[in-house]
Amino acid sequence: MRRFFIPPDQIAQSRPAITGSDLHHLRDVLRLRTGDDVELFDGLGHTFHARIISMDRDRARVSLIEAISTDIESPLSITLAQGLLKDKKMDVLVRQLTELGIARWSPFVAERSVPVPDKERIDARRRRWQKISLEAIKQCGRSRTMAVDPPVAFSQLLDQADGYDLRLMAWENPAMAIPLGSLEVDQPASVLLVIGPEGGFSPDEVAQAQGAGFYTVGLGPRILRAETAALAAAVTAQLIFGDMN
Ligand code: SAH
Repeated sequence: MRRFFIPPDQIAQSRPAITGSDLHHLRDVLRLRTGDDVELFDGLGHTFHARIISMDRDRARVSLIEAISTDIESPLSITLAQGLLKDKKMDVLVRQLTELGIARWSPFVAERSVPVPDKERIDARRRRWQKISLEAIKQCGRSRTMAVDPPVAFSQLLDQADGYDLRLMAWENPAMAIPLGSLEVDQPASVLLVIGPEGGFSPDEVAQAQGAGFYTVGLGPRILRAETAALAAAVTAQLIFGDMN
């Protein structure tokens, strides 16, 4: 059954409406009609079986048939904080991390991030990431959206780190980093994974993170591209602490 996003406030209505680009997709691309069944998710973790009961230029109205239990969210809440990379790499990562079940995407500006976009561009990027993530959510069967934070400075990211059970910084220094797979810690409910930009972290940033209670962790003896490191870290965390085992 085709999956569509429906805002949570619509679910409470007696005849929820599908509008905007989802309506276009449903009506003009998939050519669904009154009487067809669809699956709806509200981004907060709820999924419903529904039937289209009317359709006009601006909206398709549906009636909810039943709630479907789709508990495929990872028991581990992973926030992946990525030092800003070139636009294309960030776009691909957002999609892949959504599929891997990441709960929150939190880009930041590192000392060696190039280039740092201005505010307007950052806002546009964020909207684009939200859109890409929502598309990936539809495709991969999740019913909870990945939160997409506005980019912050590295120091702000460290200020927010307190709220996590486990704080990990990926560092390609084999002599100083613990291999992520051999980390011995209590099972966390939440983890913050921090990955550097293309140029890596400065020594000062590593020291600040260690001071803020981060473990510096390694992802093998090879130097990975930042976007490869992000996927490797996400997969390893799901494998050790999440739902990939
Ligand atoms: N400074 C390096 C490469 C940085 S790689 C250089 O230019 O030679 C970009 C980011 O990916 C790093 O900041 C780190 O977070 C992560 N990374 C890459 N390889 C890694 C590895 N083997 N272990 C842990 N993290 C790694």
